[in-house]
Amino acid sequence: MKYIVALDQGTTSSRAVIFDQNGSMVAKHGIEFPQIYPKPGWVEHNPMDILNSQITSLKMAVEKSGVDVADIEAIGITNQRETTLLWERSTGKPLCNAIVWQCRRSAPLVERLKKDGLGNMLRDATGLIPDAYFSGTKLQWLLDTISGARKRALNGELCFGTVDCFLAWHLSAEKVHVTDASNAARTMLYNIYDQKWDERLLRAMNIPAQLLPEVVDSSRVIGHLDKSILGREIPIASMAGDQHAALFGQGCFAPGMAKNTYGTGCFVLMNTGKTPVRSSNELITTVAWRIDGQPRYALEGSVFVGGAVIQWLRDEMKLIEKASDSEAIAMSVPNNGNVYFVPAFTGLGAPHWDMYSRGTIVGLTRGTGRAHIVRAALESIAYQTADVVNAMSADSGMKSTVMRVDGGASANSFLMQFQSDILGMRVLRPKVLETTAMGAAMLAGRAVGMWNDRELEKLQTADREFVPNMDDVTRNNLLKKWNRAIERSRGWEIEEE
Ligand code: ADP
Repeated sequence: MKYIVALDQGTTSSRAVIFDQNGSMVAKHGIEFPQIYPKPGWVEHNPMDILNSQITSLKMAVEKSGVDVADIEAIGITNQRETTLLWERSTGKPLCNAIVWQCRRSAPLVERLKKDGLGNMLRDATGLIPDAYFSGTKLQWLLDTISGARKRALNGELCFGTVDCFLAWHLSAEKVHVTDASNAARTMLYNIYDQKWDERLLRAMNIPAQLLPEVVDSSRVIGHLDKSILGREIPIASMAGDQHAALFGQGCFAPGMAKNTYGTGCFVLMNTGKTPVRSSNELITTVAWRIDGQPRYALEGSVFVGGAVIQWLRDEMKLIEKASDSEAIAMSVPNNGNVYFVPAFTGLGAPHWDMYSRGTIVGLTRGTGRAHIVRAALESIAYQTADVVNAMSADSGMKSTVMRVDGGASANSFLMQFQSDILGMRVLRPKVLETTAMGAAMLAGRAVGMWNDRELEKLQTADREFVPNMDDVTRNNLLKKWNRAIERSRGWEIEEE
């Protein structure tokens, strides 16, 4: 038996997951590392925490599995996206902490780009919405702030990279400085149409090109694991951002295929094939992955509050004890009792886009009980997802009949059935819910010839399928009321005079 190890470097933990050649998970190990909050709205990671936790989790997973290192064919990397690192080319030493994707410190730099009239150009080149979330202005901020950094960058003394790139550099014997096209697409510096770093954007953010990694395929041997780690050089054969890897790990290879990850928030990605689709609903256009030099594109939309609404019911409202209790409680009533819950705790994202919306529960009567509120909260996750999926269909002209699901809240079968009903689509929950790691493993296994395209399609199998079972009249009535609830949540917060 041969094996592939996926390194899944996430925002709060680094994990290593081992798959055998049948695609079965053999072992996994995860290690949490500290979050650093130097000021309100700022988030950092210590790069050495990222690296060391990743190396230790790799060693631990291999040890747990009992797998012979000689039988590991390849290693794949998938990672938290957009997080920005800067290190010295001669020593690999980080110049500073990593600025994490959530960090808002470069928001004023984004405002300046917009004021300078670059918003549309940026959208057209990168497919992104100008935001501090992406790497570009984070890197600009570092070069502006660290004394002498820009000069050293011009001299070629420094390397910039996202987490995939940093890990590839440090884990590889060759010290390669590469990033894959899916990660490059999140930097706000990369032209997803030309597949090149965009000189106009580099100029606008005052970023020397000498800093930048080479952009490579997502499924390709880019170097070899340093022998000091597992005692043997092993090909490092894939890199992809976490959501992109999950799309691949869900087997969404054809245009129109989509997945949703139900975590704290929800991430919906739809494969749009060889054509990048420009959204009219402010969804993001991104590179899904690049294989054999060919980029495949995706539309991406996120729901800010997904599973987090269930955490809120548990931790703040104390309406439930465990997240999983929500399923039985929701099913204890025959319907939502006309109660709608818009969990716009931080405003509303695509396709509603209202940063002044706030959480709203409407339709309360004397007969409303705990179960109605819990049910309305679960339903809200499905409505918000449906709004994003419907916007994607409108943008792309592709109407999918199936949605693949993963993430913590996808374990909730009431939610999955309701999602299927409200979308009028089949919902497929796979056997291996570790789809991000699975995707990285699949991309790596493909690169070293362990799996061909036909075999890849068979690796992921459904654990359970949910089939829509709601008539159009009921669905339309529910959606109509949901939209009325959305209207009532809008514009609640006003800026102080
Ligand atoms: P993340 O990766 O964002 O931390 P996870 O994929 O681990 O998230 O999912 C955790 C989220 O899913 C939490 O917000 C939790 O409230 C929610 N969740 C977990 N289990 C259930 C369940 N059975 N029903 C509803 N929500 C759930």
